[in-house]
Amino acid sequence: MTNRRVNNFIDGGYVTDAERDTFENRSPVDGSLVSHIDLATKDDVDRAVSAARAAMKGPWGKMSLDERCKLLHKIADRINERFDEFLEAEIRDTGKPTTLASHIDIPRGAANFRIFADAVKNASTETFVQDTADGGQALNYSIRKPKGVIGVVCPWNLPLLLMTWKVGPALACGNTVVVKPSEETPTTATLLGEVMNEVGVPAGVYNVVNGFGPDSAGQWLTEHPGVDAVTFTGETRTGTAIMSAAARNIADVSFELGGKNPGLIFADCDLETAVNETARAVFANCGQVCLQTERLYVERSIFDAFVEGLKAKAEAYVPGDPFDTKTTIGPLISLEHRQKVTSYFDKAKAEGATVVTGGEIYDMPGDYAKGAWVRPTIWTGLSEDSTPVREEIFGPVCHIQPFDEEDQAIAMANDSTYGLASMVWTQNLSRAHRVAASVDAGICWVNSWFLRDLRTPFGGSKRSGIGREGGLHSLEFYTELRNVCVRL
Ligand code: NAD
Repeated sequence: MTNRRVNNFIDGGYVTDAERDTFENRSPVDGSLVSHIDLATKDDVDRAVSAARAAMKGPWGKMSLDERCKLLHKIADRINERFDEFLEAEIRDTGKPTTLASHIDIPRGAANFRIFADAVKNASTETFVQDTADGGQALNYSIRKPKGVIGVVCPWNLPLLLMTWKVGPALACGNTVVVKPSEETPTTATLLGEVMNEVGVPAGVYNVVNGFGPDSAGQWLTEHPGVDAVTFTGETRTGTAIMSAAARNIADVSFELGGKNPGLIFADCDLETAVNETARAVFANCGQVCLQTERLYVERSIFDAFVEGLKAKAEAYVPGDPFDTKTTIGPLISLEHRQKVTSYFDKAKAEGATVVTGGEIYDMPGDYAKGAWVRPTIWTGLSEDSTPVREEIFGPVCHIQPFDEEDQAIAMANDSTYGLASMVWTQNLSRAHRVAASVDAGICWVNSWFLRDLRTPFGGSKRSGIGREGGLHSLEFYTELRNVCVRL
């Protein structure tokens, strides 16, 4: 990677072709130029897929499991050694505060290699001893084989973390990858190419092609006949396009898609903790985490106190220089995304919302006024079929609805096309288990939010995804089981 120029990384090397078309990466903090990004051509995508396929047949395909897992640990070590470079790159691309990126994005980005190396080493498969018709026996056992070349298409909200969440298990299982990072945040994926070379990952195992979705690297990768499976995190409607592209080649897909996650807060909760954690669940990363809670249902007797408490938390966020540890909220990813988020400010007002706080952009000084800043926003008074309550906004916003009965809260929580995550606050143990099992979502947090054990299944119900990743569940997607039947 050259300075302020983000190259494609193919077959173990950066493609440094000065004549190549580029596009600009601008900072969401102040609109300044972060870098020029090389636009991958269709030919680049072909070369990346061919390199990934060739690597399967080369030293990577022949490497022992033990050696492969050691390499994955070295990748994690090297990311940690170069922690500050990854941190700076992630902050420059996203504008997120260093306090967040240094605790979540980069450490988890590295940990994803370790956790899956260990998961693969300890994975078992089935065996069956079968009685045969002639009175003999046969031994059946399964072996796991890598699927092949995995196309990895990533979003911009947690760039390194969500990319390695896929690349970690894919490589641990012996596959090779071609990554298409988000056009908004390509730097850490590209920087990871250097790490792969430094620790000795063979050429072609890890490739990065930069560009956009339709008629660009995203589409060319996902419809490529040389790609055996596609793993994607992003918007639900993009999932539809990718699924039809992958269908041409009967390539398997794993999808982590959008959400409109509910939080149910009962009167018997620890109110102070519930308010504090809900503030994180709504406003962290400026509301740009798929697991965030944009719909809150609060039991009527604590409704006013809860709204007041969350309002105070919302108004305490401090926008500013992301490298300053006093900054607690960054900008949205882009002015374009802010346009989308603020369009819901208008819709909420038009559909009868009471704006408890926010509903406007921050008045920022100097060049920061050119950034994509937006105030944490809370609405009440909207109907459950209003647009801001039904659609994913992906900003620091929530609507709070009162409820009287548990069943009513569950019914409202489940009245959504999405089913990614949910959150329940109560000190009644029976209710906690009952509600957790009744809300249609891939994960339910009880008296917590965003506690992630990477061994657990992760994924969405309804239009929030297909499949589960995490721990051994990732192995199901990144390997194919073959049965061997031996007559004894
Ligand atoms: P997006 O769908 O716009 O883009 C994601 C990636 O897909 C980008 O790299 C983009 O270039 C690529 N892409 C777009 N169109 C494509 C096409 N036709 N073919 C191939 N690739 C294409 O999503 P985003 O705006 O980057 O991310 C925000 C979305 O991601 C939100 O909906 C959020 O809920 C979701 N998300 C989900 C999870 C999860 O785990 N479920 C995690 C993070 C984000």
